Amino acid sequence: MSLEARKIRLIMLLRRSGISDTQVLSAIEKIPREAFVPQSFHDRAYENETLPIGFGQTLSQPQVVALMTQSLSINKSHKVLEIGTGSGYQAAILSCVARRVYTIERYKPLLQQAEERFAALRIHNIVTKYGDGSLGWPEQVPFDRIILTAAAGDMPEKLYQQLAVGGIMVLPIGPERGEQKILRVIRTEQGPTYEEGPTVFFVPLISGALPDQRPPNAVGRATQKKEI
Ligand code: SAH
Repeated sequence: MSLEARKIRLIMLLRRSGISDTQVLSAIEKIPREAFVPQSFHDRAYENETLPIGFGQTLSQPQVVALMTQSLSINKSHKVLEIGTGSGYQAAILSCVARRVYTIERYKPLLQQAEERFAALRIHNIVTKYGDGSLGWPEQVPFDRIILTAAAGDMPEKLYQQLAVGGIMVLPIGPERGEQKILRVIRTEQGPTYEEGPTVFFVPLISGALPDQRPPNAVGRATQKKEI
């Protein structure tokens, strides 16, 4: 089956699973998911599967990407913040429905690859940042929408504070490898309101010090050099 045919099958599956927002469905149709995963997974790009993207990180199932995007209720006037750029796929989907997307990643090589993909696909309304996304992007506040694509252990207060009043934040919340739920938070004048969604599995949101940026083989080479 061709990738095009698989994509149509996936769109039908998303519709049946309750994705009714036509903007979200056409974003999924427009963005080539295969361009965001390693070559060896190209043929699986339109299966409803989580795929590896390197550095122990994963790109969520299309159904979860679609559901989270739909529950953000985004329109073309919105400024959106994403924490956890990863492959850049979720940011690319957001770029189709929002005015501008700000996205933060703590692995520089992942961010650089994502930037190359945005350029190749001529997506020009995504702004990237290397750093700890749990601190948000204070220079750009307020955001109309915030999405986390890594699971927070607790409600991320700093990020909530960067949301405009009336704004919506969608995130996976729960322990690493434990039960995580999608949470939809609305910032109102009176404080946050919460709505719980389905159970999901995401890699954890890691705050604080940034990790070693070298891929495992480069780490090996560096160690060897030291021994000589
Ligand atoms: N949205 C991504 C999913 C990537 S998986 C995609 O479409 O491919 C989650 C990502 O969150 C990982 O790349 C991980 O490195 C990143 N991450 C985890 N904690 C983070 C933090 N505090 N700041 C920024 N990125 C973080």
